[in-house]
Amino acid sequence: MFSRDEILEKLKAQVSEKRFKHCLGVEKAAGELAERYGADVATARLAGLLHDYAKELPDSDFLALIDQYKLDPDLKNWGNNVWHGMVGWLKVRADFPGIAPEILRAIESHTVGSGEMTTLDKIVYVADYIEAGRDFEGVEEAREIAERSLDAAVAYETARTVEFLAQKYIKIYPQTIETYNAYIEFLEG
Ligand code: GDP
Ligand code: FE
Ligand code: FE
Repeated sequence: MFSRDEILEKLKAQVSEKRFKHCLGVEKAAGELAERYGADVATARLAGLLHDYAKELPDSDFLALIDQYKLDPDLKNWGNNVWHGMVGWLKVRADFPGIAPEILRAIESHTVGSGEMTTLDKIVYVADYIEAGRDFEGVEEAREIAERSLDAAVAYETARTVEFLAQKYIKIYPQTIETYNAYIEFLEG
């Protein structure tokens, strides 16, 4: 496998300085959540570090990957926000041979979630939202919720994202709605 230095070097070559710092923040937050919720810390940290590895790939690369790996052709109707996770995991797999499938899966769903998330999926999804470098309205509440329930934190983040997208009249990927419906009960009553 790759040393941490090799991984950092490869990541640095793929993303801007700002995005690189965000990835380090997600690595740390994911490690802390893994400790709290009994997941493997090293695995969670690596998934957090690499979650946005494909964020700055050109659209043409994502479109080619969708064809090459025969992913759902509907993906072509979306954009970078959806592609960097739902398609980007294939780039991570290509550049890091032997990487654990559960890490690829967590990267795949890190933006839109899914109706059936593993603990690692939830950790990366939530860590991405609450890492120390994030500063937006609601992030403090998200951090507080993440201290008491990982499922409630998934629900809160998804609800806020759906709200944000709808307010801007941006299309919502159906899997995001699935995540909302599967987890929102953890915030009710
Ligand atoms: P980032 O990569 O660290 O910036 O964070 P994410 O991967 O979580 O999200 C990237 C962008 O995708 C954000 O602007 C989200 O609001 C947006 N996003 C999340 N869910 C959806 C969705 O269902 N549809 C669309 N179009 N965008 C989404
Ligand atoms: Fe992302
Ligand atoms: Fe991110």
